[in-house]
Amino acid sequence: MDGDQDYAPRYGRILLKLSGESFKGNRQFGIDHEAVEFLASQVRQVHDRGVGIAIVVGGGNFWRGAEFEKLGMDRASADHAGMLATVMNSLVLQDWLEREGLSVRTLTAIPMETVAESYIGRRAIWHIERERVVICAAGMGNTFMSTDTAASHRAIELGAEVLMLAKNNVDGVYDSDPNLNPHATKFDQITHQSALERRLQFIDSTALSFAMDNGMPIMVFDIFTDGNLAALVSGRHVGTRITTDEAGEQISMGAPTIPPLV
Ligand code: UDP
Repeated sequence: MDGDQDYAPRYGRILLKLSGESFKGNRQFGIDHEAVEFLASQVRQVHDRGVGIAIVVGGGNFWRGAEFEKLGMDRASADHAGMLATVMNSLVLQDWLEREGLSVRTLTAIPMETVAESYIGRRAIWHIERERVVICAAGMGNTFMSTDTAASHRAIELGAEVLMLAKNNVDGVYDSDPNLNPHATKFDQITHQSALERRLQFIDSTALSFAMDNGMPIMVFDIFTDGNLAALVSGRHVGTRITTDEAGEQISMGAPTIPPLV
């Protein structure tokens, strides 16, 4: 957004979650290189301002374990395949970030030493402190989990001040799916507790309760609007913020507002 480069960043370190969906652009499956190029440009805008960045990458553009379980596949094997899908996306993103001139390290939660470093929290922090973008691949490394949960965990373990939860077909959190319900109402702000009670579907409940228990704020926003990530890092209100702040919920009234920062 215009002028955001003039403000000191609000955050020194962020965790960005990119779902697999955001890698496929308008394709049905796999990778759209233009989409990845755009994602890399958004990350560079923030890195240029001195913000430490870790990224957790999903794999849903290739594989979701639960879908293959429904087809009769052993869930643990299906989840291992899903985690490998996140590694494919991570390597693609690493390449595009390097083309943007950034220094990048991919760390995998499933050790694969000829491909990338293994994920160790302290090592990830060491890289971030040296201005390298860290990509966290293979989720938590455990079956029956999601990359949302990995994002929540890594945000806390790596000392991020906020979890930036990027979406690619919706601009925040709604009380129902805005793609199905034209009367869906958007939240400007909501607490973790309220989002859990309402069973809102923007993140899985394990990830949300983990963030709540550790006081980790979450920003839900549309990554494919140029400058949104940079605007958030400047402290502007974009999308929906999820906080433990008891000041409670704010329903969107149309014109964007800039509530006090928490
Ligand atoms: N997965 C897993 N453990 C994890 C993270 C991911 O088993 O810690 C598997 C799971 O099968 C999941 C797939 O990897 O369906 C892809 O991850 P996810 O669905 O979270 O990706 P996204 O929806 O963010 O693209």
